[in-house]
Amino acid sequence: MTDQFGRAIRYMRLSITDRCNLRCRYCMPDGAALCRHSDLLTYEELLQVAEAAVGLGITRFKVTGGEPLVRRGCVEFLGRMKSLPGVEQVTLTTNGLLLEPLLPRLAAMGLDGVNISVDAADPAVYAAITGSDRLDAVLRAIRASVGSGIKTKLNCVLLEGCEGQIVPLARLAAGLAVDVRFIEVMPIGAGAASAGVSSQAALDILRAEWPDLHGVEEERGNGPARYYAGARLLGRVGMIDAVSHSFCRGCNRVRLTSTGWLKPCLCYGEGTDLRAVLRSSPEELPAALRRAVWGKPRAHCFKEAAEVTERNMMSGIGG
Ligand code: SAM
Ligand code: SF4
Repeated sequence: MTDQFGRAIRYMRLSITDRCNLRCRYCMPDGAALCRHSDLLTYEELLQVAEAAVGLGITRFKVTGGEPLVRRGCVEFLGRMKSLPGVEQVTLTTNGLLLEPLLPRLAAMGLDGVNISVDAADPAVYAAITGSDRLDAVLRAIRASVGSGIKTKLNCVLLEGCEGQIVPLARLAAGLAVDVRFIEVMPIGAGAASAGVSSQAALDILRAEWPDLHGVEEERGNGPARYYAGARLLGRVGMIDAVSHSFCRGCNRVRLTSTGWLKPCLCYGEGTDLRAVLRSSPEELPAALRRAVWGKPRAHCFKEAAEVTERNMMSGIGG
C-alpha cells in the first residue's frame, strides 16, 4: 500500500530479539537494559504480523535484532517466513559470529540474502568497537556466505578514528563478490554520542586507493545505498548516508521492534503497539498496520538531533 505521501511501502524489518553477543559501542554498550522475555513477540506473533503485512503488499522482510541468530529457533523461523504465502523475499542481518555453520541450511531454504556487519578489518580495532576478539569467525563467515551462493553484503559503520579501516574493508570486495556498504552513524541510542565520518570523506579515502570508482545505477537491494564500481573490485562499494543525504522521498519501509512496536520512521519514537493488538484483538491487526503505514512521517530529522524522539537503542529497533 502507499502512505499519505504516495510512497509504496513494500519492505518490513523484523527485529526478533534485543539480545546480542556483541557490544558495539554505538549500538548496545555494556550494561544496556534488556526487555523482559515475555515482552518479545513470539515467532507465532511475528508470523501473524508478516501475514497481515503481506495482505497490504509488504512482501519483503529483513530479519534483524539485536543479533537474530542468538534467539533459539531463528533458522526455523526464517524457513517459516520463506514459506509464508505471498512473501517474495526474506533476508537476514547478522554480526556473523554464529553464521558459518548455519549457512548450508540457510542456503537450502533459499534465504534471499545476508548482510554481515563488520566495522573493522583489524582485530584490535574490531575488538575496541565490539568488545569481541572473534573477527576471524566473522571473516570466515563472510567467505563461506559468498561461497554458499547466498547474496552477501557487508555493513560497515563509519566511526571517527577508524578511517584506517575503510580501505581494508573495501578490499574484501576486491577478492570476493560481495558488496561492502559504508553506513553513516545515525544519532539513535548510543549512536547519538558516537562521532562518525561522512560518506563523502569515506569516498575520498576510497578514491585515493581506487581512482576509477564511479557511481552505478543498479538495483542491488531494497535499501537506499548508492553504489560505486571499480575495475579492480569484484563487488561494489556502497554508501548509506542517511545523515548527509536524506533519502526519505523514496523510503519503502516500516520497522517492527523486538517488542512489537511498529515504527513508521527510524527517527521518531511514535508508532503502534502491535503486541497489544496481537494479544487483545488480533482481528484488528490489518487495520492497525494500514493506519501506521498511512501515517508514516514525510522525513526523518537526523540533522536536527533535538527533534529525534526515538529513545530506544538500535539493538532493540533492528537498525
Ligand atoms: N546484530 C545484527 C548486525 O549487527 O547486523 C543486526 C542488528 S544491527 C542493529 C543492524 C545494523 O544496524 C548493523 O549493521 C549495525 O551496524 C547498524 N547500526 C546500529 N546502530 C547504528 C547507528 N547508530 N548508526 C548506524 N548504523 C547502526
Ligand atoms: Fe549487536 Fe548488531 Fe548492535 Fe553490534 S550492531 S551490538 S552486533 S545488534
